[in-house]
Amino acid sequence: MSSPLSSLKYFEDMYSIRLTQLEAERKRGVKIIGTLCLFVPDEIIFSAGADRIILCGGKADTIPRAEEFLPRNICPLVKSSFGAIIDACCGGQIACSHVSLVDIIVAEATCDAKKKTYELLPEYRKTYVLDLPQRPNTPEAKDYFLSELKKFGMFMDTVTGHSITTDALRREIQSANETRKLLHRLYDLRKRDPPPIRGSEILRVMQRQFFLSPAQFQEGIRQICDELETRVLDIESKPRILLSGCPNAAGNTKVPDIIEQKGGIIVAEESCTGTRAFWDLVDEEKDPWVGLAERYLEIPCACMTPNEQRITRIKDLVTDYNVDGVVYSTLQFCHPYAIEKFRVQHALKKMKVPMLAIESDYGDADIEQIGIRVEAFLEMLS
Ligand code: SF4
Ligand code: SF4
Repeated sequence: MSSPLSSLKYFEDMYSIRLTQLEAERKRGVKIIGTLCLFVPDEIIFSAGADRIILCGGKADTIPRAEEFLPRNICPLVKSSFGAIIDACCGGQIACSHVSLVDIIVAEATCDAKKKTYELLPEYRKTYVLDLPQRPNTPEAKDYFLSELKKFGMFMDTVTGHSITTDALRREIQSANETRKLLHRLYDLRKRDPPPIRGSEILRVMQRQFFLSPAQFQEGIRQICDELETRVLDIESKPRILLSGCPNAAGNTKVPDIIEQKGGIIVAEESCTGTRAFWDLVDEEKDPWVGLAERYLEIPCACMTPNEQRITRIKDLVTDYNVDGVVYSTLQFCHPYAIEKFRVQHALKKMKVPMLAIESDYGDADIEQIGIRVEAFLEMLS
């Protein structure tokens, strides 16, 4: 048996410490920003003197509340997040405690489900929507996003009463890059055969990336990396799986858990709770605003078109992590990732790498059926 990882306990213990910290900050007048997507740069929020907390919902219990307002056929992530917000703001009992800490929600114009839901948010919390170009590879896109980021910076100045200085922005970029480098170190360790940690354990860590403060998160990642350097996971040879697709917001670990319970080992995640969140660094040599605009437009989210960089990223991950098979996991009614599945499948077919597509929601009803399909897929890979 491999020894349990004591560094994972750090992340459990930090949960209540972080909530207490945010409450204390709020009492001191620090503004707390709620975010819902990777495209909103932490660097701008922190350099304006505010703090942030992620509001993406991964739990099923707030969905019925959301369905009083939203159509049922939109993705569970949007419904869960929105349900938590309206429940918290209307004195409900099932809300996540994060929402009540938030002064302002900074949302982003990505998929239709999110964009249209954000129109309903101002009734519950002050909301700012960061606009995004949809064709990120054009020169106009960079100019437009640069102006949007600066506009967002000015908004943050008025929210906190502190002007964002170039020095402060550079400091926050360095800090965010430090987090990204630490995560590269962690993910590099997973290239080993066998990897020293399960993907389901890593996911629970990654779900804390935008909840903890950067310093707290970095400390935890350092501890895990140090512990993993000398750890050998005592497992028989298992198929190495790349998990690709929609994000797994905190509370949703269903598909990764099934994959590893059925005998696979996840060696990397091509998702917003994985590589998409940290892969590219901001160029510290450039003007900080330009560096931010370029880096954030590189996020290979399926809301962008065309999204060739995602196909390239997946192919690279398959090779670099010596992947035996890809599990392509989408949330029900998520059109961007469901449609992009066909391009991913095509690319993997050319590489002769098998792919299993799973569509799921936040309920338990399909656990058995997913388990049967995953088991058959893993047997085929063995
Ligand atoms: S999948 Fe796209 S829209 Fe959703 S959180 Fe990630 S970057 Fe944002
Ligand atoms: S999972 Fe898909 S539908 Fe849901 S918020 Fe993300 S991009 Fe939109």
